[in-house]
Amino acid sequence: MEKFEVTILGSGSALPTIYKRPTSQLVHYSNKYYLIDCGEGTQVQLRKAKISFLKINHIFISHLHGDHYFGLIGLISSMHLLGRVADLNIHAPKEMEEIINVQLHASYTKLRFKINYTVLESKESELIMEDKNMQVSTIPLKHKILTNGFLFKEKPIPRKAKAEKLKFHEVPHYEIQNIKAGADFVKPNGEVIANNILTFPPEDSRSYAFCSDTAFREKIIPIIENVNVLYHETTFLNKEQPLAKKTFHSTAQQSGSIAKKAKAGKLLIGHFSARYEEKHHLEFINEVNLEFENVEITKELSTYIIE
Ligand SMILES: [Zn+2]
Ligand SMILES: [Zn+2]
Repeated sequence: MEKFEVTILGSGSALPTIYKRPTSQLVHYSNKYYLIDCGEGTQVQLRKAKISFLKINHIFISHLHGDHYFGLIGLISSMHLLGRVADLNIHAPKEMEEIINVQLHASYTKLRFKINYTVLESKESELIMEDKNMQVSTIPLKHKILTNGFLFKEKPIPRKAKAEKLKFHEVPHYEIQNIKAGADFVKPNGEVIANNILTFPPEDSRSYAFCSDTAFREKIIPIIENVNVLYHETTFLNKEQPLAKKTFHSTAQQSGSIAKKAKAGKLLIGHFSARYEEKHHLEFINEVNLEFENVEITKELSTYIIE
């Protein structure tokens, strides 16, 4: 099975503290890296995680509150200084290109590489990136400004061939790809060998959903249904529910409720308001547990396996 995991680079909210960096996460699938959000200090966190900046080809920005992208120009600038030539793909709200260009222009920086922008809207979930193994779709969220979460879904995995059966039935080499895709094999004499004799069933495709920032929004449930791991912002404890509503954020119990209704395998939480300290962590867990059992508070520079 290919490696599929997420490393938390920053899990704080708007105001930085000495314990928490603003939002950024790195999804790692096989030999590919995808960056989600790029809060201030992301490049330092990438250094600590020992990830080469040049391995990142896709950056997904959820929204244009500073705690989710103020590190982007710094990272782009470092990529330039490190001699990057490969295209960089940025998926973000439409103002992103102008924001980056103003900063490059003011410093007379002409990048050695090209940036391709995908403009995100928040109307419906849409497929925004697809490569050999992975599909990324938006999850339209409900926040003060246009905001998207991102669903990373492994593409359907081919069936695994049973080598000795292929040999026994003299399956020619050029048929193997069709058989891994599910086709039966027809022998030259017309005899049909059913696919399940020749192959093992495929592993289920795995998925990871990132949802930050957002008010409680049940509309996202069909998009993230049965996700293996869900990261859902959890800015407040229950007693701050009116404030959560006013600022378009979620409480611990609300995150738990989304995880339960979406039948998520596991819930990761973060983006706690700076008013909370470590001594409040148990309260967050207890309030999520009112709805959903399998929850973990994200730790910066920790890696979580998607399974
Ligand atoms: Zn935020
Ligand atoms: Zn925000």
